[in-house]
Amino acid sequence: MGEKKGIQAILDNAYAQARQVLGEGRVASYIPELAKADPSNLGACVLLQDGTEYDVGDFNIPFTMQSISKTFSLIQALQTAGYEKVFSIVGMEPTGDSFDSILQLEQKDWRPFNPLINAGAIAVVSAIEGENIFEEFVELVQKLCGDDKIMLNENVYHSEDMTGNRNRSIAYLLESRNVLQRPPVETLDDYFRMCSVMVTAKNLAHYARVLANDGIDPGTGERLVDSDIVRTVKTLMLFCGMYDESGQYAMKVGMPSKSGVGGGIVAVGRDGSGIATYGPVLNKKGNSVGGIRIMEILSRELETYIF
Ligand code: GLU
Repeated sequence: MGEKKGIQAILDNAYAQARQVLGEGRVASYIPELAKADPSNLGACVLLQDGTEYDVGDFNIPFTMQSISKTFSLIQALQTAGYEKVFSIVGMEPTGDSFDSILQLEQKDWRPFNPLINAGAIAVVSAIEGENIFEEFVELVQKLCGDDKIMLNENVYHSEDMTGNRNRSIAYLLESRNVLQRPPVETLDDYFRMCSVMVTAKNLAHYARVLANDGIDPGTGERLVDSDIVRTVKTLMLFCGMYDESGQYAMKVGMPSKSGVGGGIVAVGRDGSGIATYGPVLNKKGNSVGGIRIMEILSRELETYIF
């Protein structure tokens, strides 16, 4: 990690360079409510292990987690149902297919390839055990992000529910093969809600710092997630976290990361640091154009590349 006094300058420079490429993509529109995002928004937060924080741009604007929720639901499933159960219904292999692909289920294996594609995440959400699964999910997110105000965006949730027929198809296909552990309607409702929980880049940097420190919040010293679970989640983030751009991203950025179509990227640094970006303009793979550019520059200049 670079000299502390130089980090803000590196972040400012990465931000300025990333602003130049925002014209190369578009805001997600397949969920109507997401199309309302401001394409000029861009921000980032770097949180060092010792708690020093560096921010730029729209680091404090809330957006919905979308696919980033898949890392939290995986943690919740591993905590409540355990490793054996979870990985009996979902695999741990990368896929070259798009995040909402149905092809693989019909052609290759009834067990979704990994927990970070839609089919895998829907299976994982069905395996979560508990009395109030969504409320417990929000509490987990609040704890890992260090913010007890984190909550659902009702408008995005309804928008997803209204337009989620592809996810419904996936869930019913999984149900037809006896993969789902709870009824499809109940599972999908939790899945749509989880995707629609709002966070900021600052919240996600806090989360990434917990993952970077093996599940311990360095601010309080409290263990929030078992280290075995953290290792599983980080490994999957590295290989599968950026949709069908995961290989190229790992080559350029080299940090376990997860993106969401809401525009967020969360990345685990090598030295106990957490980094997150927000920029709703997405490339064709569904990843934030500005966010990727910022991550590329930070990884090189702050030496957070893990290899
Ligand atoms: N809620 C979105 C969906 O299931 C999440 C997709 C994403 O962020 O990749 O379509």
